[in-house]
Amino acid sequence: MTRCLPPSPADEKRVCSLARPGQRRASLAQHAGARSVPELPEVEVVRRGLASSITGRQISGVRVLHPRPVRRHLAGPADFEVQVTGRTFAEPRRRGKYLWLPFTDGDAILAHLGMSGQFRLADAAAPLVPNTRIIFAFADGGPGLRFVDQRMFGGLSVSPGGAELPREIAHIGRDPFDPEFDLAGTVARLRRRDTVIKRALLDQQLVSGIGNIYADEALWVARMHYARPTHNMSRGQAAGVITAAASVMSNALDDGGTSFDALYVNINGSSGYFDRSLAVYGREGKPCPRCGTLIRREPFMNRSSYRCPRCQRSPRGFKIQSAMREHSRKNEG
Ligand SMILES: [Zn+2]
Repeated sequence: MTRCLPPSPADEKRVCSLARPGQRRASLAQHAGARSVPELPEVEVVRRGLASSITGRQISGVRVLHPRPVRRHLAGPADFEVQVTGRTFAEPRRRGKYLWLPFTDGDAILAHLGMSGQFRLADAAAPLVPNTRIIFAFADGGPGLRFVDQRMFGGLSVSPGGAELPREIAHIGRDPFDPEFDLAGTVARLRRRDTVIKRALLDQQLVSGIGNIYADEALWVARMHYARPTHNMSRGQAAGVITAAASVMSNALDDGGTSFDALYVNINGSSGYFDRSLAVYGREGKPCPRCGTLIRREPFMNRSSYRCPRCQRSPRGFKIQSAMREHSRKNEG
């Protein structure tokens, strides 16, 4: 049998769903009006699943079934297979939304999940699910690791010396769960920026791991409009919204990640997961959980932003910015 990571049956559906596009992805996109990629909690769920499944295991063979997912490995698919074979995985690591699989010798595989990438564990004899792209076999004869990716925006590449931090992602800022995350320093950098808060939250170099969904949720918790300028924020306001982002992502992680299957289930009315976990994102026209005002969806940065118009009032001068946004709005289609 093939199963998704993490291997616990309770988690199987959710983690599979991270990367099961097609009908379900379309349903979410239709519902939320935005494409979604895995955010920090989802990637952490995958990392934990991998950690319990591949850490300490030696790779006995690799087969690349499609060249596209290894396109970032510039030496090509055959070189990828040769380089990886014989290595032993150390514990998988993550920074923000970026995942890497270190080897015990100091190198690593950098993994991009993209829109639809997923890892699965499967016995060697198990039939390949559609869109299986890369297969790892292990010397211990236990379940192999398979990278499955329908749309192939994701992929794997060997990062020499990347076990501690692949140089490809060295510019990515620490995420709020990193023991060395510097809240005061992040607040100071944020307040020096001449930008608006949501754009700053999505800037992975400033603070990593926050995507469109959890940015909206954090701003709702902090009662802040997405277009609030950052330069005149108090330290407390700036720290508050970053802390809120950490909090909503932590809650999502406790729920196993805000997976697409869970969202999908709720859309069909069979689970309260979606409404319980997300206060504003994807909830246009539904009541704000705090004040009952109907949630609005508005275009911002070529994506949708959801906010409560009462809890998250427009900042002064927003009309001017709104007029400036008209330009990008026209390009949104
Ligand atoms: Zn409200």
